[in-house]
Amino acid sequence: MARYAYVNGRYVDHREASVHIEDRGYQLADGVYEVVGVRAGKLVDETPHIDRLDRSLRELRIGWPVSRNTLGFIIRELMRRNRLRDGLVYMQVTRGVARRDHAFPTAPVKPSLVLTTKTTKHIVADPGPGVAVKSQPDIRWGRCDIKTVALLPNVLAKQAARESGAYEAWLVDAKGCVTEGASTNAWIVTGEGELVTRQTDNGILAGITRHTLKSICNSLQLKLVERPFTLAEAKEAKEAFITSATSFVTPVVKIDGDPVGDGKVGATARRLREEYVRFSDEGEAVT
Ligand code: PMP
Repeated sequence: MARYAYVNGRYVDHREASVHIEDRGYQLADGVYEVVGVRAGKLVDETPHIDRLDRSLRELRIGWPVSRNTLGFIIRELMRRNRLRDGLVYMQVTRGVARRDHAFPTAPVKPSLVLTTKTTKHIVADPGPGVAVKSQPDIRWGRCDIKTVALLPNVLAKQAARESGAYEAWLVDAKGCVTEGASTNAWIVTGEGELVTRQTDNGILAGITRHTLKSICNSLQLKLVERPFTLAEAKEAKEAFITSATSFVTPVVKIDGDPVGDGKVGATARRLREEYVRFSDEGEAVT
């Protein structure tokens, strides 16, 4: 089966899909992206993801390449063409193609729009054995709230984690606090049973999964505190887990080689994953 990508108005063979070498995304990482998870043919939390794309674009003063309605149509058309049942839709908008100069182009340029899909395993409620994380210094810039394609610090941190056998990197700021994962939000459950995740500000990405899970925690009457937590506190925690559009809620059982709690998947993470999977079952299937 042919796999399609969407590039600036056309559905093209994924192997042939390309953008111009002077695209500012390619040259300067002058662009933003979004990832929407797909489970059993349903888009998970599409609206808040597109709202965040809108915010990222506004923060960087990049225009919408197509209308929001049209983007919704393109997402669905690509899913149908690629028969996407489980995985993700990736979308990227850059400032467009212009003669290379750091400053914005003075003549109007059309932003570039690229969409791809990726198939992944069907996510189930059972979390499996959990994952290991490795701490890495957070060397990113001061606007981590914008979902830009400038991901080099995240790339290097994730690579260091993978080379040590860990699944994810936990980024640690100058104060010794865990900000977030390289591509996930970070959570712990304290000995007192309190859920802790860092507050959203310019230091982290306001994860959509994080946001939805907050509502789920509320409905379950779990105590959640949004505040910084140190790496040392995480290592002493009863449980830890990560959230993202593609990993849902994934328990963390090891930090820097040391077991979290008893080293097994915790009850809170297990429950929240179940609830999030249930949440993802809502809505209309596209494919
Ligand atoms: N933080 C970072 C740095 C990320 O890249 C992601 C994944 N987009 C997240 C957190 C999780 O965000 P979401 O739940 O919206 O996928």
